[in-house]
Amino acid sequence: MIDFTFNMILFKLFLFLSLKGFSNVNFGVLADPNGTIRVQLWRAQGDLNQEVISEFEDRAHITDEIWMRDNRTIDFMIFDAEAERMASLLDKNNVSRKILIEDVREKVDDALVHTFPTRRNGNMVRTSRGSMDWTKYPTLDHIYAYLETINKKYSHCNLITLGKTLNNKPIYVLKISTMNPTNKAILIDSGIHGCEWTSVVSTLYFIDSIVHSFYKQPSYIKDRDWHIIPVLNPDGYEYSLHNDRLWKKNRRKVSEFCYGVDLNRNFEYNWAKQDSTRSICSETFCGRAPFSEAETQAFKRLTDGPRFHGYLSIHSAGTKVLFPMGVTRSDHADQIVMTKAMAEAMRSLQNYQYISGDIHALRKIGYGMAIDWMYFTKKITHSYILETRGQNGLDVLGPKEILPAAKEIHLGITKFAELFNS
Ligand SMILES: [Zn+2]
Repeated sequence: MIDFTFNMILFKLFLFLSLKGFSNVNFGVLADPNGTIRVQLWRAQGDLNQEVISEFEDRAHITDEIWMRDNRTIDFMIFDAEAERMASLLDKNNVSRKILIEDVREKVDDALVHTFPTRRNGNMVRTSRGSMDWTKYPTLDHIYAYLETINKKYSHCNLITLGKTLNNKPIYVLKISTMNPTNKAILIDSGIHGCEWTSVVSTLYFIDSIVHSFYKQPSYIKDRDWHIIPVLNPDGYEYSLHNDRLWKKNRRKVSEFCYGVDLNRNFEYNWAKQDSTRSICSETFCGRAPFSEAETQAFKRLTDGPRFHGYLSIHSAGTKVLFPMGVTRSDHADQIVMTKAMAEAMRSLQNYQYISGDIHALRKIGYGMAIDWMYFTKKITHSYILETRGQNGLDVLGPKEILPAAKEIHLGITKFAELFNS
């Protein structure tokens, strides 16, 4: 069961620190100046029976970045206060454990000092509006200025507002197309989770790499209609950037103390079928109804229009290429071939070990997810999740790693475009 009392203590501490203006950026429950609430990253290995699996399913209140590496290995984050109970549970079940990161907060903080768009001394990063700096994460304003600039500059770009968030931020889709009516349409989104900064930068990098010389691109790029939503959760992205590095959800106030709907649990297919997603304060709260949120409504409006032939959802940071639960479907073989080819292309840059396969074999089961809705409801066979590189599932990269991570996603998307007609 979720330890609600402990969660509330952490939440109040977070609130206290926020009100005190503890720092420009804090890390939610990780923002503890004395280091008394330490979070570690553990790896458990062994016979993951139902008792152990259930424990992890209940841990969604901390993060859903719990990674099943294979049938015998799980990586997960844990608070100091929970460590003893978890250790005895694992010992009892003969599951071995080791600490991968001693202090996650320190690790995140360290990366942030170098990659945050506003330098700690208050000077803004000097990147001109309309161009990108691939060594830092851009603010939402910077991203939108960039999109507006290329929209003005190129006739093959069309920037469309799909909707507005609760904080009145536009949700943009950028269409890049030669407007040839025989083109097949591909939809890409990123930033559905606020804290997944690298997913956003990777999508922007893909845009930047094709947009300036679009007519000179190979036909598998040029003869497509690209519909790209770089930031599907603008409120969550901004909040993660300026207030809480680990913030995932949008910013809807759902109760007196709790904020946010996990947009990637708010889609109609299998909506609310998982217990933890129905708890309003959970990290994976599915909302009060399917498509209750402005962001998912915007997405739905777009996909209810002209048919898409391919869908790529960019996340960070699991170092994976995934397809939906397709084991009983005839297109399973195609999906294996496609995800393998994408993972291989992504590995080719720096031999980073991207793995590929069925979402349910590699990651805990999700419900109400965009990918399942696109695959099962919209019948788009080629629907995939691309997870950027990271550190043990955490989106913490140094300044020199942002560009390679983005290039890997670019290689994956390009390989997809090359193969998906065949
Ligand atoms: Zn995600």
